[in-house]
Amino acid sequence: MDFEKLADLLFPDVTMTPDEIQAKYPARNLPEGAKVTRFAPSPTGYVHLGGFYQAILGEILARQSGGVFYLRIEDTDSKREVEGAAQALINTLSHYGVHFNEGVTVDGETGIYGPYTQSKRVGIYHVFAKELVKKGLAYPVFTTAEELEELIKTDKKEENKNKDWLAEAEQREKEKQKARSITLESVKENLASNNPFVLRILADGDPNVKIPFTDLIKGKLEIPENNEDFVLLKSDGVPTYHFAHAVDDHLMGTTHVIRGEEWLPSLAKHLMLFKYLGFKPPKYLHTATIMRLDENGNKKKLSKRDMGASMADYKSMGYAPECVMEYMLTILNSNFEEWRAQNLDKSYKDFPFSIKKMSTSGALFDINKLNDVSKNVVSRMSAETVYSRILEWAGEFDRDFADKLNADKEYALKILSIGRGGKKPRKDYGKWQEAKDYMSLFYDEYFELIDRYPDNFDKNDIKSALTMFLDTFDYNDDQNVWFEKIKNISDSLGYASDMKAYKENPENYKGNVGDVSMFIRIAVTGKTNSPDMYTIMQILGKDKVQKRIKNMLERL
Ligand code: GLU
Repeated sequence: MDFEKLADLLFPDVTMTPDEIQAKYPARNLPEGAKVTRFAPSPTGYVHLGGFYQAILGEILARQSGGVFYLRIEDTDSKREVEGAAQALINTLSHYGVHFNEGVTVDGETGIYGPYTQSKRVGIYHVFAKELVKKGLAYPVFTTAEELEELIKTDKKEENKNKDWLAEAEQREKEKQKARSITLESVKENLASNNPFVLRILADGDPNVKIPFTDLIKGKLEIPENNEDFVLLKSDGVPTYHFAHAVDDHLMGTTHVIRGEEWLPSLAKHLMLFKYLGFKPPKYLHTATIMRLDENGNKKKLSKRDMGASMADYKSMGYAPECVMEYMLTILNSNFEEWRAQNLDKSYKDFPFSIKKMSTSGALFDINKLNDVSKNVVSRMSAETVYSRILEWAGEFDRDFADKLNADKEYALKILSIGRGGKKPRKDYGKWQEAKDYMSLFYDEYFELIDRYPDNFDKNDIKSALTMFLDTFDYNDDQNVWFEKIKNISDSLGYASDMKAYKENPENYKGNVGDVSMFIRIAVTGKTNSPDMYTIMQILGKDKVQKRIKNMLERL
């Protein structure tokens, strides 16, 4: 076979050579050890937590090594494309402070290693495809009109599974040899009849031979060589992921490819491509699939439909981006939490990330852990910060609450200052929806009686306690005087004001000062549990306290 001729027949319009293309992609001028990473999603606009995990990793490795992190849009599968998707994706990542140095941006592209959108690179792929044909390393497989018709029929039967059916039809191993032995004459005939073709690689691998390979996350692996003549170009001339990734990551100077472990089984194909194309392969990091625990405690893949899978949702749920980022770091690196405990005042961005501390199998997504991490992060923020962040969230998702916060900033700040600062700050809320629930007792329109009085107390005692409290309440009392009054009320109703005395002889009392406090607390806060009641009353002010006690007395 004259491969030069075959190449010219198949790609008559391709006039450039790989060297000419290569000349447009000079070696990157970066410091020694700098990593060039990329995020390479297909343009659905949807960012799954698993993809986000990879994006963060790419960003960190590039940033911490003085390298480059770029965005490439892999839109070779047009069925999955969604209008405005790249913009949505960039916005989602940038909400979390994950920014790209290069590639696709909201206003076009930046960088000299583009185009960064695969559909704009088809001409480039064809140059390399032609070269492989010239070297006898790739060959076409045509489909005639009759075969096409047959395919459409079977395809209809099988209810098109979204696969490239032209490519799929040719995958049967028994046809491989026949396909490989195509002649120039038959190629000419097929081209003259406008029959479409896919371009397949001519695989020389032996699956019995294992290639030693080191994945930077998974460690040392042995992968069987590839013997599958996989498709490089689909019948419409568009490359497969395999081919496009090899050409792009080589030309764009990617040093580290970070992607999901679902690509591991294709690695032998990719190494073959790099070898055939004469490219040095990048280093690979195959990240573990993110798992979740189901109702029975079994690990399941975190799928698109699962709560917490979409990165866009955390915003509406009211998680601050840095809370999500801190959480992501806890699942990315096993020593993050230890570092955090020792570096409370540092930004998560200062964390010295280590690939060695990554989970090699099944990172577990746990919403409770996210909530805990968030509470910790929020507890370390200043009241001012929390105020402005809640306001920002409410401005988008809860206008009414935003209006209330805007109407009286000082009041909101007093509420948000409760238990803040000091060594052991309170950790009442980790997301803004929870903060609203926490704050609502301070706003009459949101105030609700959430807890009821336990049945084991005499209603008359509750009434008397509330009445006495109301009669003696003086907003200007300091905390000691205020508490003395509650103790006096307790004594006069037969409830122990002295806890020690109560513990020694509980049978002598109807209850203790804690119970009397609870009578008042439920009336004023609507709950049995609340932060310090004196502080709450100071913030609420005299009128609200009196009104709530009176309202409760009317209900009892
Ligand atoms: N476009 C591929 C995907 O969506 C990217 C894999 C890679 O990063 O190489 O999975």
